[in-house]
Amino acid sequence: MFSIPEKLQAVHEIIGNATAMASRPADSVKLLAVSKTFGADAVLAAAEAGQRAFGENYLQEALDKMIAVKAARAAFPTADGIEWHFIGPIQSNKTKAIAEHFDWVHTIEREKIAQRLSDQRPPELPPLNVCLQVNISGEASKSGVAPDQALAVAQIIAVLPRLTLRGLMAIPEPTADVTQQRAAFRQVRELFLKLQQNGLALDTLSMGMSADMDAAIAEGATIVRIGSAIFGKRDYS
Ligand SMILES: *Cc1c(COP(=O)(O)O)cnc(C)c1O
Repeated sequence: MFSIPEKLQAVHEIIGNATAMASRPADSVKLLAVSKTFGADAVLAAAEAGQRAFGENYLQEALDKMIAVKAARAAFPTADGIEWHFIGPIQSNKTKAIAEHFDWVHTIEREKIAQRLSDQRPPELPPLNVCLQVNISGEASKSGVAPDQALAVAQIIAVLPRLTLRGLMAIPEPTADVTQQRAAFRQVRELFLKLQQNGLALDTLSMGMSADMDAAIAEGATIVRIGSAIFGKRDYS
């Protein structure tokens, strides 16, 4: 069994190799540690090893964890702050707490949710960083806006005063076939380039998880969202 710091190190090595293969700078990919279902102790272990950005899918679980992490880290006043990213589906009745407690939201797929997050972002906090989630694989059950609607929705979100639209997020259909992984990520990147060409100042492609981060980095990911490769297998029971 490897410890969390050892697994984090291994993920950094994978990112380092993948960026080198793609002739990209090693620091062009940010590691988001997805801590859903794991406790504050796991977040603290990763934080002590230098990890700063954490992703959560479930609001109440995240809020409880933030309180525990903050209390534990109060003992280390010189340590850098931790950044929280919301990466789960968002219902309207959750937007207020998300706007108040998170630094980033990756999973915006409706104008109404974006509008609420902007309206509810507390004035003393910087604008909330957001990504528009796109549905690349195209199944009706999957989350995200259809690629042919992404530009129109992005243009609406980009002018909301308390949000900063940073880019696109996608969760392509899982496949072990690296060629298929890359083809899906390439579609996200092409959409991202199209949005940039239409004048949107975007810098973030949030794509790639434990099983497909190599392909995502080869296709230009700037944030990879990694859970099980850092924290181990999730137990939902
Ligand atoms: C759980 C989750 C991840 C992390 O998945 P792993 O396969 O454990 O790396 C990444 N992104 C989203 C949106 C998730 O829900």
